[in-house]
Amino acid sequence: LPNVIIIGRPNVGKSALFNRLIRRREALVYNTPTDHVTRDIREGVAKLGDLRFRILDSAGLEAEASSGSVLSRTAEMTKNVLARTQFALFLIDGRDGLQDMDMDVGRWLRKRAPGIKTIVVINKAEKLDAFSGSLAAIVGEAYSLGFGDPVALSAETGLGMSELHEALKPLLEDYMQQVLPDEDNEDESPCVNEEPKNDEDDEARLPLQLAIVGLPNVGKSTLLNAILQEDRVLVGPEAGLTRDSIRVQFEYAGRTVYLVDTAGWLERTKQEKGPSSLSVVQSRKHLMRAHVVALVLDAEEIAKARRSMKHAEVVIARQAVDEGRGLVVIVNKMDLLTGQENKRKYESVINAVPEEIQTVIPQVTGIPVVFVSALEGKGRMAVMHQVVDTYEKWCSRLPTARLNRWLRKVMSRHSWKDVSAQPKIKYFTQVKARPPTFVAFVSGKNQLSDTDMRFLTKSLKEDFDLGGIPVRIMQRIMT
Ligand code: GDP
Repeated sequence: LPNVIIIGRPNVGKSALFNRLIRRREALVYNTPTDHVTRDIREGVAKLGDLRFRILDSAGLEAEASSGSVLSRTAEMTKNVLARTQFALFLIDGRDGLQDMDMDVGRWLRKRAPGIKTIVVINKAEKLDAFSGSLAAIVGEAYSLGFGDPVALSAETGLGMSELHEALKPLLEDYMQQVLPDEDNEDESPCVNEEPKNDEDDEARLPLQLAIVGLPNVGKSTLLNAILQEDRVLVGPEAGLTRDSIRVQFEYAGRTVYLVDTAGWLERTKQEKGPSSLSVVQSRKHLMRAHVVALVLDAEEIAKARRSMKHAEVVIARQAVDEGRGLVVIVNKMDLLTGQENKRKYESVINAVPEEIQTVIPQVTGIPVVFVSALEGKGRMAVMHQVVDTYEKWCSRLPTARLNRWLRKVMSRHSWKDVSAQPKIKYFTQVKARPPTFVAFVSGKNQLSDTDMRFLTKSLKEDFDLGGIPVRIMQRIMT
């Protein structure tokens, strides 16, 4: 098996990543005696999708690291280990940003272990807000370490592990190609084996967390029951459990869907039937737990009012998109607008809602709107179809090579007012999924203008079918 070592300054999450990679498998702990001290290096067999490799955790060295003379000692202690290691995962902490000590580790790696192929891993990425630019900033910094494309992930939550897989796979496969003819490759288990890909590594297969939100009486419970086709959701908590722990989970089209905060809204909905109140609208916290937010509107209310969305509804829709969630708008109670006498109302609702969504959330075009009657069970399949479709787009990952081919084409399509002001995009890559987040690396003195960014975003969405979800492109200026 190829050996992969996890390197990094203290507290960046080396052990967390190690534990995630070995899962429940046994970790071997052995001592590396050196001149003065004995430290542990843990080692185990990592499994990441179809990849298998030996993983070494240098976290045991942390105690020394914090006492100051980290680098020399680390060098000593890991000497033996490094001699038989082919790859390194160089961890940095996405929240802290790049520290001097990270730079030191980088320099040290290059000097002491020039033969080791290194991938920079930005850990704790689940806490990074791609939308405030903090992710772009750290990605840019990570590039400056000089080890190529960084991978952003969360060892804690497992997000981004498929990106690590993508980055490691070609390296490990190359390596195996070289060593396989070698007879004394001690393990019979090949790096790439036939085991089915583990679901956990394929983010699109992770359970879909769905939040059904909306004002009281719009029909959230009814819709949910229609989706579930039975009264499961209204059944009270099991003995000994509090209401909060009701967790509705169901299967749709072969995937697991969790309802986020079901207990919360059922409870509040029952208490607060009546006037629209912001308190019933899901808090930001709940939205953050959802992958897709289904905002339910009431068609009858829309037909009555001049604007399709009440203030609270606009707030929630904007929040969902600002937080980078997928949004699906559901207009319920369409059965109340049937019949010849309601024809005009019906049509105005059908036209007004998508228009108004576009007006209040101009940054995302094509947010799906589904018209349903939860009471009659009409449109419930369309709801789930849109939810899953949105989720899949939200999880999309586009290979860098494909993006750069696309970029060359699309930039030649763009009409530049002033060719001399045309920015040079050296490189375009997706740094994150859920939601898809891209970085354009620009060199030279010309930066991408807002117009350029809008053009790129629009083209990207059209060409890769990413309409209806928040997609973010950031630029990094290369120096
Ligand atoms: P929630 O507060 O959003 O969970 O709303 P409920 O599901 O409790 O529904 C509120 C009221 O609207 C109930 O009286 C439902 O029967 C009614 N309702 C829900 N969906 C529909 C629908 O599609 N058509 C009609 N006509 N009434 C509905």
